[in-house]
Amino acid sequence: MLIDSEKLQQFVSAIFVSGGAEFSVAQETAKHLVLANLKGHDSHGVGMVPTYIQNLRAGTLNPTAHAKTIRDSGSVILIDGQFGFGQIVGKEATDIAVTRVKENGLACIGLRNAHHLGRIGTYGEIAGAAGFVSMHFVNVVGHEPRVSPYAGTEARLQTNPFCCVVPRDRNEPIVLDMATSAIALGKVRVAYNAKKEVPDGALVDHEGNPTNDPRVIYEKPSGTLGPFGKHKGYGLAFMCELLGGGLVGEWTMQPDNQRVGTIVNHMLMVVLDPDLFGGHARFQSEVSSMIDYVQSTQVAAGHDKVRIPGEPELESMEDRLSNKIPIDNTSWNEILDAAKLIGMQPKDIDRLTI
Ligand code: NAD
Repeated sequence: MLIDSEKLQQFVSAIFVSGGAEFSVAQETAKHLVLANLKGHDSHGVGMVPTYIQNLRAGTLNPTAHAKTIRDSGSVILIDGQFGFGQIVGKEATDIAVTRVKENGLACIGLRNAHHLGRIGTYGEIAGAAGFVSMHFVNVVGHEPRVSPYAGTEARLQTNPFCCVVPRDRNEPIVLDMATSAIALGKVRVAYNAKKEVPDGALVDHEGNPTNDPRVIYEKPSGTLGPFGKHKGYGLAFMCELLGGGLVGEWTMQPDNQRVGTIVNHMLMVVLDPDLFGGHARFQSEVSSMIDYVQSTQVAAGHDKVRIPGEPELESMEDRLSNKIPIDNTSWNEILDAAKLIGMQPKDIDRLTI
């Protein structure tokens, strides 16, 4: 089916209000998820709603929690998300970072105990819109691992996202925002629900053989998701685990820590004002000259153009704002079931979806 983004946001917001969230919290969380769909990341869009409702009902997602500062050393701040919606505590932590960068030029924020932060680029884009550079190292815990280290056949990590954003004058920022696994786990879920295969090189089965079948992640016998780029992707995933998880969250995937079937993200975020270095104008001049230079290469066979990071998301958004957001039947039925489970009346579901 195809659904309009505004209508989808209002429906998802109503589901979260039924789950006990304040209207503004529900709206912000729904907006983040729908924006992920608009930007082409269905893996981190409204398809996450059933998981959020499951965790909310299990008490591992607190719909009323907000970011709480637990240590403030000026430019370095430790914030506890108290297992609130990641979309809320992540935005609150980013807003604190932007305020501090305006005062001090630099902010290093550790956000621990956030429920799923969703699309990490959302936070980088807030910093980018304010004219700042930002870097994000995130780990993912609270459940069994799914990602194997390079040269290993057993899962030891999760999809640990990394994000880096560079601001541009009069333009959307450059946004590199990615899972460190070969593909995001949510993309395996979307393929599983749509009964499709995943691309080559992403999954291995329980015997370590390459496979395109997403069932190895959701059914027994279990396979694993590999890192992107062999040892390099694994290395970055490991750093996200140590910096986001070990340093900030004090909670990594190692087996002494709890795994209760929920999703917890810890994030190390460094935000800085380019004026701290050579100054805004010179930086912007190098950024735009470099974009021109990179895009001046001849285009390789099978491609239409050279893009800069963040460009595919902008193209997707333009398309989906006009042509609506596609959602497969399994994912849509799971969202409807989640709405019923959390107590929405059928007449309200119909009013918001038909
Ligand atoms: P992806 O592979 O689609 O894109 C990764 C990056 O590459 C993006 O910055 C994109 O703009 C860029 N890119 C894509 N195609 C390009 C091209 N042709 N030329 C130039 N640049 C290009 O993203 P992904 O790895 O599937 O991650 C999807 C989302 O999942 C991200 O938003 C990430 O934050 C999120 N995520 C979140 C969690 C979590 O626990 N919260 C975990 C993993 C991933």
